[in-house]
Amino acid sequence: MLRRRARELTPGEIATPAIQDLIAGMRDTMRDAPGVGLAAPQVGESIQLVVIEDPPQAHAGMTPAQLAERERAAVAFHVLINPRLTVEGDDEVAAYEGCLSFSGFTMIVPRWRRVRVEALDERGEPVVKIASGWYARILQHEIDHLRGVLCCDRMESRTLATHDNHLRHWRNATVDEARAALGPMPVD
Ligand code: ZN
Repeated sequence: MLRRRARELTPGEIATPAIQDLIAGMRDTMRDAPGVGLAAPQVGESIQLVVIEDPPQAHAGMTPAQLAERERAAVAFHVLINPRLTVEGDDEVAAYEGCLSFSGFTMIVPRWRRVRVEALDERGEPVVKIASGWYARILQHEIDHLRGVLCCDRMESRTLATHDNHLRHWRNATVDEARAALGPMPVD
């Protein structure tokens, strides 16, 4: 399921109790995890639907400098259906990232800094999201799930660590410090 391309929903399907119940269930699952995004294939539904929420309480324990480094700010709960993502500009930014479907691990993943997403909301109304920084990262991660792509497909593989080891060894390191300490792949 996680490796499959999910199918689009029709406008008629979006209004059905089955889809509205799925959205409510995904919202609860995301909040319980807790996570900042969840895609339908992660809960066994191969359809193009994601939920996203980055609430202020998710930032507890992060310093203003860390939030600024990640360009991370609160994002209210919302639903995106049949999303189409386009990259804005050519800036890339790398950060540690994890996934509820790849739990217990963290890894550095380069992402586009700024993206535009056109989608339908939970009422079937068109919406456009222009995002940068952490919100752009969440959008790219979740929309990848609808195309059978996981963060480990895009990671810098030498940075893969268990979450426990990451906290033990790299918690206070910036991405650049971690990359420098790990070094390049040896050639001999
Ligand atoms: Zn994920």
